[in-house]
Amino acid sequence: MTDTPARLNYQTAQFMISAPTLAQCPADEGVEIAFAGRSNAGKSSAINTLTRQKALARTSKTPGRTQLINAFSIENDESRRLIDLPGYGYAKVPEAMKREWQSHLADYLRRRRSLAGLILLMDVRHPLSDFDVQLLEMADARELPVHILLTKADKLKQGPAKASLASVKRQLGEWEDLVSVQLFSSLKRQGVDDAYAVMNRWMAPDA
Ligand code: GDP
Repeated sequence: MTDTPARLNYQTAQFMISAPTLAQCPADEGVEIAFAGRSNAGKSSAINTLTRQKALARTSKTPGRTQLINAFSIENDESRRLIDLPGYGYAKVPEAMKREWQSHLADYLRRRRSLAGLILLMDVRHPLSDFDVQLLEMADARELPVHILLTKADKLKQGPAKASLASVKRQLGEWEDLVSVQLFSSLKRQGVDDAYAVMNRWMAPDA
């Protein structure tokens, strides 16, 4: 017996399906980890970095697919999935459409039983938008663990990056049991191992 979770090979991620609503997602079985964030937060880059696959993020960025829930299997096992949720807040999208995406996202977060944890991406220079906080509240309502990646950490010097991390930690106060946070940079591959450790804990807790 060991407390160390199995190490999954996230490089094996394979596109499964794009779903417009929760109803069209893969069967709600097994275990999945979802990625969410404002558009431009660096979500596609982070998924690329974590899976070492450029094509995955391209899939999610294909016009017409940005509003969809994209599912990827891990290690050829469709009961282990990474889920790329639609980015929110995209400026060029009409308000009504934004609200519709947000309602699909909320629906997914509230009701998805196989969801083991949420990776929430925020630009280290603009953390905790209103909708980020709403997602944290939804996660809290169902006691879903959340791991925040403060992305593009390379854009700040070490001092300000650490200050942003400390400030986010402070603001998380009431959620600290369920929410963890780290600095991340796709450009520098900073924080990748820490992110894997959290993902492994969620995805393979019994190994
Ligand atoms: P998404 O809309 O959340 O999927 O964001 P993207 O992954 O497409 O990234 C948005 C922009 O930020 C792109 O121009 C990326 O090149 C840039 N970006 C993403 N991650 C990093 C990073 O770690 N460092 C830097 N410097 N730029 C990044």
